[in-house]
Amino acid sequence: MTGFDTLAIHAGQEPDPTTGSVAVPIYQTSTYKQDGVGGLRGGYEYSRSANPTRTALEEALAALEHGARGLAFASGLAAEDTLLRAVCRPGDHVILPGDAYGGTYRLVARVLADWGLEYTAVPLGDLDAVRAAIRPSTRVVWCETPTNPLLAIADIAGLATIAHAADALLVVDNTFASPYLQQPIALGADVVVHSTTKYLGGHSDVVGGALIAADAELGEQLGFHQNAMGAVAGPFDAWLVLRGIKTLGVRMDRHCANAERIVEFLVAHPAVSQVLYPGLPEHPGHEIAARQMSGFGGMVSVRLRGGEETALKLCGLVSVFTLGESLGGVESLIEHPGRMTHASVAGSPLEVPNDLVRLSVGIENVEDLLADLASALA
Ligand code: PLP
Repeated sequence: MTGFDTLAIHAGQEPDPTTGSVAVPIYQTSTYKQDGVGGLRGGYEYSRSANPTRTALEEALAALEHGARGLAFASGLAAEDTLLRAVCRPGDHVILPGDAYGGTYRLVARVLADWGLEYTAVPLGDLDAVRAAIRPSTRVVWCETPTNPLLAIADIAGLATIAHAADALLVVDNTFASPYLQQPIALGADVVVHSTTKYLGGHSDVVGGALIAADAELGEQLGFHQNAMGAVAGPFDAWLVLRGIKTLGVRMDRHCANAERIVEFLVAHPAVSQVLYPGLPEHPGHEIAARQMSGFGGMVSVRLRGGEETALKLCGLVSVFTLGESLGGVESLIEHPGRMTHASVAGSPLEVPNDLVRLSVGIENVEDLLADLASALA
């Protein structure tokens, strides 16, 4: 069993041993009967430590990312917090992408900085700048590729070489690409991070996060912190993500195909000054993206000639696209990062342009999506 779509449907998801249930049951329980003290049936004792529905998801995640251990959390940020506290000590240093997801930046700059974590934000497309930012105390190089919301591309293999030469870990937030389009561990990453809220869940009905460790020892350390810190995914949320994962491949194919048609339309539109999409040959990261991704994804950002006013107007006039935060669901979403998802980085070096609109292209009929954008931009 090695094909991606086969793993997505079967890894960790054997029919239930007691009933034969093909769908993994939602084990909505906090505790498990013991046969005498310490006599665990199947290894489960308390659902913060482990729960069979979560175990199924964790095994599926590890299989899809080709890691040694998967761990499921209550949100992407819970996963990030657990990871950074597990592998860093106060006084350690982290390199962040120059346009990291705003929530990641806020976690490091406003929460973990108080705990003693130091950071430098660097444009990861510039490997010399990353090399120059390394300190003896650098413990993590944090990579997001493509980035949210500017869709910048970083060279995962190049960053792995730099991080490992400095005895640091390379962490890759693979939320935008999903394991279907990009396999960071095969390119040298030590840990993959996901907001499973996005493409893995895929239906805008769950908030969750994941860590996948490349090697078992690091996986063990992260597992200890998952239990010790307790920000685990509940059984129903784990089940929703697991169900979403089964159709990840077919959804991603459609997300990519629809995004490509939309990019073609936007590039030619007079109201648009720039389309940010790694599939465009003029995108500065295009060559690297073509090398390390098997498709360019469903996220598209555009800058509008009319500035913020036109950007906000577009967000208000669409009707098939839904104005809302988040991404990666079957329905198309539109948002203004400057005022919405990235408002937390306003005034920081990570501030995003106010003429920027981000599209999460869904899997609806693409003609309806094109007509919607055409009428909103008219
Ligand atoms: N990483 C990326 C790239 C994201 O876009 C997000 C959320 O938007 C997160 C991490 C955080 O995930 P969550 O919202 O599930 O905590």
